[in-house]
Amino acid sequence: MLIGIDDTDSLKGMCTTYIAKRICDEIKVIGYPKLVRLNPNIPYKTRGNGAIAIRTRENLEKVREVVLGVVKKYSMIDDDRTNPGVVFVEESESNKKLLTAFYRRVVSELVSIKEAEDVARMVGAEVFRLKNGRGVIGALAALGFNSNRKSYELISYRVPGNYGKKRMIDASSVFEMNARLYPNVFDSVDLESKKVLITPRGRDPVFCGLRGKSPEYVREAWGLVRPLEEIESAVVFETNQATDDHLVSKRISQVRPYDCVKLDGLVESKPKSVEGGHVVFTLSDGTGSIDCAAYWQTGRFRKEVMSLVPGDLVVACGGIGKYVKTVNLEKLCVTGLSSCLELVVPVCCGRKMTSAGRNKGFKCRKCSKKVSHGGIMSRKVSRTIGVGWFEVPPRARRHLSRLLILD
Ligand code: ATP
Repeated sequence: MLIGIDDTDSLKGMCTTYIAKRICDEIKVIGYPKLVRLNPNIPYKTRGNGAIAIRTRENLEKVREVVLGVVKKYSMIDDDRTNPGVVFVEESESNKKLLTAFYRRVVSELVSIKEAEDVARMVGAEVFRLKNGRGVIGALAALGFNSNRKSYELISYRVPGNYGKKRMIDASSVFEMNARLYPNVFDSVDLESKKVLITPRGRDPVFCGLRGKSPEYVREAWGLVRPLEEIESAVVFETNQATDDHLVSKRISQVRPYDCVKLDGLVESKPKSVEGGHVVFTLSDGTGSIDCAAYWQTGRFRKEVMSLVPGDLVVACGGIGKYVKTVNLEKLCVTGLSSCLELVVPVCCGRKMTSAGRNKGFKCRKCSKKVSHGGIMSRKVSRTIGVGWFEVPPRARRHLSRLLILD
């Protein structure tokens, strides 16, 4: 049997993974519990849009009692934005197909509660919802993540007395662990800004999360980092983090609000730096055009985007907001460089000549010599960017974004 859980926490506290941990303490779980990230652009999320899937062979009566007991006890039900959903689904080939298709949509698009209710009916799910039950969307979608592309996260939890306090960790131990285990353990630190990334900042019970390619690597990493506070427990989750599962290839005319997309197109306008330090260029693909933005937090990536020129061919990957205006870039592949030419301004009397007017060539301000338009030489613009992939730094990476180094 599969158990899906979502939307139990709020910014005031708790974490759906902690509820999973509590359930795993009481029922026998097959494999690892799953932490499944869903569309990062949707407006209802608290933080990382994560839902939980658990597999068990225990009988429904016991499972129902344990799961609903834990969810009721630990959910932040008083928060307006918390709408828990829990589903119990029997495993079968036909259910697997339906749930996989639903997961594919929920991880990359905006889906309605009605659509989730329809899928719940088709798979014969037993559904428990509190308040508006929006959590049913994530709870069902989590059950559809079953691909071979996956990663692992070891999440450690604080003792309740420390909730809300500053997390105490020996930062140098995290950098040392990273030096030893990267890229098998990844996104632990941001080397450019020298920041530790494994400890979140909220009031939730999570002390830290270590992400890696296998359960063994994340356990090894946990043995190397030094917490400076008491730890309650640690659990390894199988996840869809770092898989790019959210990115779906689309034409620009097909893009909808809140989509996660991969767009193949041509750089139409020269990138420009706008207020706030973001870099923006227009992409077109014959069906339409859309702005692509590298936000200021993306550091070096912004500079790489700035060096694109009109005519370059790129694949732009990222998320869409409430309006279909801009792709918030997560990564970008340059597939073809425009061989653009620039005029070579002629030199006379030791100085660069000046323009003699539109299409009239150049003239020397000292000796009045003229060079006609036809006589001007041009040269290939030398490019600082080459063909290949470029990505945002770890501190700006979405949970679902796959690191280039993992391929
Ligand atoms: P945390 O990461 O801290 O567990 P969260 O960021 O996962 O919190 P939730 O509290 O789970 O946020 O809220 C997300 C809500 O959005 C859930 O009700 C979930 O069912 C719903 N949801 C998830 N994906 C989609 C989607 N693609 N379309 C519509 N609703 C969605």
